[in-house]
Parts: sequence; C-alpha cells; structure tokens
Amino acid sequence: MAMKKCRECGGKVSSSAKTCPHCGVSKPYTSPSGCLIFILAAAFATYMTFFKDDDKKPENSYEKAEDTQEVRSEAQAVIQSRGFTCTKVNSTHAAAFGGSITVFCDDVYEYKIKDNGGKYQVTAE
Ligand SMILES: [Zn+2]
Repeated sequence: MAMKKCRECGGKVSSSAKTCPHCGVSKPYTSPSGCLIFILAAAFATYMTFFKDDDKKPENSYEKAEDTQEVRSEAQAVIQSRGFTCTKVNSTHAAAFGGSITVFCDDVYEYKIKDNGGKYQVTAE
C-alpha cells in the first residue's frame, strides 16, 4: 500500500484512502485540476465583490430585499416573535419604495413587516 502526501494538509495517507485521516479532505492524493481552481477563484472573487457592495447599504433595511431563504427565515422569526402564526413562509415581497416587506405564510396568512427605525412592526393583512 503506497503512502502519498495529502494535497491539503501534507500528512501521510494511503493511496487507497477515500478521505484524509488528518484533515478529512476527499481523494487526498489527487490534485484538483488547475482549471477548476481558476473557476472557483473567479467565482469567489465575484462573490466577495457582490458582498462588498452589499455592505454599503444601511443595516436592518429591507429595501430591495430579495426573496431569499435568509430573508424568509428572518421574516418568519419576526412574525412569530410578535405572536403571529407562520409555520412556513411561502414568499416575501419587498415594497418598491423600501421600508416594508409583505410575507405570505402557510398559504393563507399575509403579514406586512414595517421597519420603524430598527423596530419591526408586524401587521396581519
Ligand atoms: Zn489531509
């Protein structure tokens, strides 16, 4: 059984090992293709640029908020903390002018969350 060097941590691993016993990386003895690394690096750079721009926006603002899983779970938490029922968020819709967001829950409920200077006000429609 040949011993090879792990591409991640440099530890000794068997050439038949599926994962590195030291760092847990899969296929530790094969080097990933340079092309893949380039694509990942480019994707990461794009990702970082995107979030850098995002940081310039004021915090706790739903302005231009997208209907992402993060927005949904945050909206759900706010709704539930005000004693409203929201077992599952169907969709969220940010108001065009910002400051409020409409949340649809459990196929029947519709809530509006208003951002009053950092304090969320929840109203059932
Ligand atoms: Zn390793």
